[in-house]
Amino acid sequence: MEKSFKTFNADETIELGKKIGQNLIPGNVVLLTGDLSAGKTTITKGIGASLGVKRVINSPTFTIVKEYSGNCPLYHLDLYRLDGLNNDFDLEDYIEGDGVCVIEWPFQVSEILPKEYLEIKIERIDEFTRSITIMNHGDSYVRVVEALWKH
Ligand code: ADP
Ligand code: MG
Repeated sequence: MEKSFKTFNADETIELGKKIGQNLIPGNVVLLTGDLSAGKTTITKGIGASLGVKRVINSPTFTIVKEYSGNCPLYHLDLYRLDGLNNDFDLEDYIEGDGVCVIEWPFQVSEILPKEYLEIKIERIDEFTRSITIMNHGDSYVRVVEALWKH
């Protein structure tokens, strides 16, 4: 199942992130796909807001992982620069952890991704327009997409 939206500025993308985040539960994994500057970090700001994260969510590109506390933990991963880094942390701890795990550039680590996840695909149409498609991979995320159809 999938549902697509168009947004016309960053705030609209954050609002959509909030709606998605409302239906996420601890242990859920969200994979963000789309080019550089598509809006992956921007939509994560909205997801975090609805999980009760108060701190400002910024790109974890240089740290790979940022952890935020909210109603449940938010693990925000950006694996763009993973290659060549000598990581001393275990990504599986986040992916299998008891928070919501949001991953930019997830297919850098295809082999450790769960079978079931929510995908958010963001496509840049022009400077301010984005096409955003939310789709479930696996039955346990159907309800997240269904909830978006009710708006
Ligand atoms: P990514 O994490 O995918 O590299 P970011 O979220 O960091 O992308 O950056 C997206 C950039 O695009 C920001 O500068 C943001 O202000 C801009 N932008 C313009 N229009 C939109 C939109 N409709 N949705 C999201 N971001 C937008
Ligand atoms: Mg980003």
